[in-house]
Amino acid sequence: AKQRGKDNWVRFTPGMERPVVADAQFGADLRRGLEAGEFRVVYQPLVDLHRNRVIGVEALVRWAHPARGLISPAEFIPAAERTGLIVPLGRFVLRETCRQAAAWLREFGPGVLQKAGPNVSVRQLHDPGFVDDVRAALADSGLPGELLVLELTESAVLRGPQVSRTLHELHDMGVRLALDDFGTGESSLSLLRAFPASIVKLDKSFVDGIELDEPDTPEAAARQAVARAVIQMAGALDLDTVAEGIENEEQAERLRRLGYSLGQGFHLAEPMHPEHVTRMLAGQQDD
Ligand code: C2E
Ligand code: CA
Ligand code: CA
Ligand code: CA
Repeated sequence: AKQRGKDNWVRFTPGMERPVVADAQFGADLRRGLEAGEFRVVYQPLVDLHRNRVIGVEALVRWAHPARGLISPAEFIPAAERTGLIVPLGRFVLRETCRQAAAWLREFGPGVLQKAGPNVSVRQLHDPGFVDDVRAALADSGLPGELLVLELTESAVLRGPQVSRTLHELHDMGVRLALDDFGTGESSLSLLRAFPASIVKLDKSFVDGIELDEPDTPEAAARQAVARAVIQMAGALDLDTVAEGIENEEQAERLRRLGYSLGQGFHLAEPMHPEHVTRMLAGQQDD
């Protein structure tokens, strides 16, 4: 069942996904939902672990379905990818994120919000109109490209010369690229060299258990070793890092000691409505 509480439509607990319905039917429903304006973007703060301030946001899509209630992206993103509807859906999230980030920039001035990032699927990278969509979203919102961070997974960027060209065009526009769920795939050094990334996001699976002094299994020890290796590699390649899925202060403290300076997770701040982010940014203005 869905979590109860006033913010229950911005956060999900594992195991709540409903069975996936047939793609064709699902696709028609998703198209209808897009036209009806049922999709919303919520934002999870990226937090400076040393100063305890919000310095950026990740944009996460939500579907407030009139009959089925709130549907998790874990359920509808795969179907949106299979049906190709991720292209218009992703365009909506991109445009909405740029519009909102530009509004925050106008309200709070430069330097407060330094990164605003939607997730981008491989299908979007293959869409020949993608670079133009990004350019238009920036132009229409007035958001400087440097504030936009596109979150991509390794499997998405390992897709050959066409995707590579797209990524370099985006990079040349000043847009920043983040490698999401880092550590879960190939994560090779050569990938990072070929890919114009400026941020790596350490996957939550490496943050789980990071606080234990004595890792209880060889797997736990290996996960801690990956967290150490990623921060060293990022330092050598001059990349920013974000540790994802921080759920308690012990994890935050251990990550700080390893050298991580940016984090994301329920312990720091949950995905939230944009008005809530506005209040957080306003609250830290005069600190
Ligand atoms: P992701 O990109 O890895 O996003 C992080 C997910 O982890 C989010 O789930 C967020 O709510 C959750 N999370 C954050 N902190 C914690 C924590 O401390 N503990 C735990 N257990 N979870 C945490 P969400 O919003 O349900 O999104 C799931 C996935 O759906 C995302 O994973 C991303 O792959 C995809 N997704 C979401 N929005 C979009 C979108 O607009 N476009 C695309 N292509 N994919 C999206
Ligand atoms: Ca992400
Ligand atoms: Ca992630
Ligand atoms: Ca993920």
